[in-house]
Amino acid sequence: MLLFVIGPSASGKGTQANLLADKYKIPHLSVGELLRKEIEKGTELGKLIDPIIREGKFVPGHATTHVLNEAIEEAFKTNHGCIIDGFPRLYDQALQIQSLVDRHTDGFKVIHYRLSVEECIRRQKEREANGGKRTDDAMLAQRLKSYEEDIEQILEYYRDIDALIEVDASPGVEEIFEDTCRRLTDSFR
Ligand code: AMP
Repeated sequence: MLLFVIGPSASGKGTQANLLADKYKIPHLSVGELLRKEIEKGTELGKLIDPIIREGKFVPGHATTHVLNEAIEEAFKTNHGCIIDGFPRLYDQALQIQSLVDRHTDGFKVIHYRLSVEECIRRQKEREANGGKRTDDAMLAQRLKSYEEDIEQILEYYRDIDALIEVDASPGVEEIFEDTCRRLTDSFR
């Protein structure tokens, strides 16, 4: 099983990805973490992307392709798949998925957690009030704006190839999880 989870900042996609990983007994891989591991290992790629990640910009396509190819290959060697969190974030990346996936499996699904900008900001503030990592307000607003700009085109692409699962991320964690599992089961029928 190969799942990609996408959604705006503070939509709760990381929490859902963890729950799905537990349920389906497959690893949850975050693209941001895979990239940070390259930096920790001090690889050539790590040295290249370090300043880019510090600035909070998107790393070049070859960097995400490299870490994802390795991670997906490993996940199918040692497990029966994985859940990837944080990819695609750009339309170009959406188009790349097919070639990333083809070598490993013929089926994959993209789960999109939909949440309004206002609710994302409210949840982020709540996380911060509960001791979560503080995000600069302007940076969060910018991130959410660019998310909104890119997402519809990405979703349309996955809808067209019948790979999209849309989930309303506004209820509580358990309700969202139940909805995700139900839709996932239906999509594999
Ligand atoms: P995150 O841990 O998801 O906040 O990601 C940390 C950083 O990794 C981001 O600020 C980007 O610099 C980089 N990154 C994560 N995912 C991607 C992606 N899909 N494409 C390009 N860069 C990414």
